Amino acid sequence: MALVALAAVPTAGLGMSLRAQATQSWPIHSLERPQPSIVNPGPPAPALPAPSDAIVLFDGRDLSGWHSTAGGPARWRIADGAMEVGPGTGDIATVRELGDVQLHIEWATPAPPAGTGQDRGNSGVYLMGLYEIQVLDSYRNPTYPDGQAGAIYGQFPPRVNASRAPGEWQSYDTVFHGPRFDANGKLLRPARMTVFHNGVLVHGDIELTGPTAHRARPPYTPHAERLPLRLQDHGQPVRFRNIWARELEKNHSPQSTQRTRRSPAPEPSGAGQPKLQD
Ligand code: MG
Repeated sequence: MALVALAAVPTAGLGMSLRAQATQSWPIHSLERPQPSIVNPGPPAPALPAPSDAIVLFDGRDLSGWHSTAGGPARWRIADGAMEVGPGTGDIATVRELGDVQLHIEWATPAPPAGTGQDRGNSGVYLMGLYEIQVLDSYRNPTYPDGQAGAIYGQFPPRVNASRAPGEWQSYDTVFHGPRFDANGKLLRPARMTVFHNGVLVHGDIELTGPTAHRARPPYTPHAERLPLRLQDHGQPVRFRNIWARELEKNHSPQSTQRTRRSPAPEPSGAGQPKLQD
C-alpha cells in the first residue's frame, strides 16, 4: 500500500526527499534488492574522440596530469595506451580540479577474470573525489545491486546491467552537477548524475544522498565547487583509457530561459516591441 501511495504522489517539486526516502528504504548493500536486468550493449566500440572543447585528462601516454592521493607521483602502469591500476599503490587523482562536468572514461576489467563478487575487477570513478560510480566486472558476476558496475555505490543500482565481458573496453558517459552549499555550509542542492554505461542509460539525473562510503550513507559535508577526479585502487589491475571532461559551467547555454551573461540592453525607443533578433 505504501508503495502505491508513493507512486500516486507527484514528485515534481518534492525533489530529493521523496527519492532519497525510496533509496533509504533498501538497506545498504542489500542482496534482497532486485537485480538489474541484463542488456547487451553491443560489441566494444573504438575509443570515442574528445570534442574540441574537452579537457583531456588522460591520452594514453603518461600520468603527468595525475598524482597519488597518498602523495607523490601516480605509480600506475602505462601500457598499450592505457593506465593500469597498480595494486597496493593507492588511488590516483587529477591535478586539475573539476566542477560540473560531462565526463567520458573507458575501462576494462582483467581477463581472464579472477575472484568473485566485489573482488572481481573492482575499481571506481569518483567525481570530485567523493561520489563513486562503481567499476566492477559485473558480467555473470552477481553482487549486491548497489555495488555492481554502473552503481552509484551504496545508493543506486544501475537501471540495467549493460556490462561487457572481462577484458573488453567499456565506457561511462556522465553528466555530473556537484552539490552547492551556502556560506554556513548548509546544503542548497544535492549532487546530480546522469550515467550511460556502454551507451545505455543507467542513471537519469538522479540526486545523490551524499558522498560514497562503504556500508554507510553519510550526509553531505560542505566542500569546494571544484575538486580532483579520483580513480580507485581496489587491489585489482583494472585498466583505464581515453578520459576527458567538458566543463559545463563554462559553456553558454542557449536553452536557458534567463539572461546570465549580460543585462538587457536599455531600450531608448520602441520599448515593449517584440525584438526579432537577440
Ligand atoms: Mg569500487
